[in-house]
Amino acid sequence: MEQEHIAIVGAGQAAASLAIHLRHGGYGGALTLYGDEGHPPYQRPPLSKAYLKREWTVDRLYLRPEEFWSGLGVELKMGARVTGLDPAARTLEVEGRVVSWNRLALATGTRPRPLPPEFSGLKGVYELRSLADAERLQDEIRPGRRLLVLGGGYVGLETAAVAAKAGLTVTVVERAARILERVACAETSDAIRALHAGHGVRILEGRCVAGVEAHGGAVGAVTLDDGTRLEVDAVLVGIGVLPRDELARAAGIACDNGIEVDVHGRTSAPGIWAAGDCAAFPLAGMPTRLESVQNAVDQAECVADDMLGRPRAYAPVPWFWSDQYDMKLQIVGLNRGYDAVLRRRSERGESLWYFREGRMIAVDALNDARTYMAAKKLLEGGIVISRDEASREGFDPVARMRQPAV
Ligand code: NAP
Repeated sequence: MEQEHIAIVGAGQAAASLAIHLRHGGYGGALTLYGDEGHPPYQRPPLSKAYLKREWTVDRLYLRPEEFWSGLGVELKMGARVTGLDPAARTLEVEGRVVSWNRLALATGTRPRPLPPEFSGLKGVYELRSLADAERLQDEIRPGRRLLVLGGGYVGLETAAVAAKAGLTVTVVERAARILERVACAETSDAIRALHAGHGVRILEGRCVAGVEAHGGAVGAVTLDDGTRLEVDAVLVGIGVLPRDELARAAGIACDNGIEVDVHGRTSAPGIWAAGDCAAFPLAGMPTRLESVQNAVDQAECVADDMLGRPRAYAPVPWFWSDQYDMKLQIVGLNRGYDAVLRRRSERGESLWYFREGRMIAVDALNDARTYMAAKKLLEGGIVISRDEASREGFDPVARMRQPAV
């Protein structure tokens, strides 16, 4: 009998974790990763931080050196675009060739939302999703340049921080009423806005681009919907991402804001799983798609366990982080549906505690790693913290975490 073949489409964090976990879990068949970028699996978070600042070399971005993968018996097919998937025949089409698999995992991640049409084809306009994008943008990070950042999410704000520190004049334009609206409460947005203002970054919220002037094919000035005109040398567009689910859709696999999976990561097609940013899974009864390293790693491990015949339900306590200037924002839990926020200060920093129906569901910690760790342990332990308890003078989350559950 021919050797079994597990194929993984994608070569990012989820794909890498899945392959490693399968091997460590005892899978002995063939294992191939197909990635359309020319690099072995690498970390994306430093692309808008240390790598953009040129503090890291490309080797440091790689999750493992290339020889690690061959040593593990994982075949990396890089620069290989998968163009077709046939779930019934159990084949993929890769660069015009048909490849058979016995089991398949889709770890295709996300792609940036399309550029607003007024920017397309212009020089001086950048996105930041891939290593190649970061390398292009690095050349713009020079003192005295004027950078417009479109989108006040993580990509936009982290890039704004790097650029401002490097001596650029930076303006952030956010369409929503406030920066970070998708992920955080108004109090966290206020703190981050003040941080950027302290570094000279102008943040314009509730505005969008109404017109673009180009000179010689390059962006030169941007007019906003309120008439503000900004002369710019470069534009970084960080307006969010979309799940890369087109391969699955074309193959008839159920998709809705990502590839639909169950708690084990199984898609609607037998023998096909999905993990990471591209997968929408049920969490607390709601379809959920998380764009984070934590999710990529943990969901992929859960999928690997299922493939190894050790099914377990994926029920994470999500966490996220962002570095801007000397500030570390750490978020644990999902704040969806929150109805109250409590601000707490410690000698280290501050934290925002989210409650739904009186029960703590998430915490944003700003330069307060101890509170973040404590909140993470409380959430992971299923310990109920009421708003009354957290509001009490002398409430110490670190001490509370050490108490036995009641
Ligand atoms: P994001 O966090 O979704 O933020 C994009 C922001 O741009 C949103 O506030 C969005 O507002 C706004 N926007 C959309 N269209 C706009 C327009 N035409 N003009 C101005 N603003 C507009 O996405 P991102 O910052 O692009 O990040 C992309 C992905 O990378 C995400 O998955 C993110 O989590 C990940 N990432 C994470 C980190 C981290 O965790 N530290 C760092 C970098 C990247 P609406 O909500 O109104 O659309």
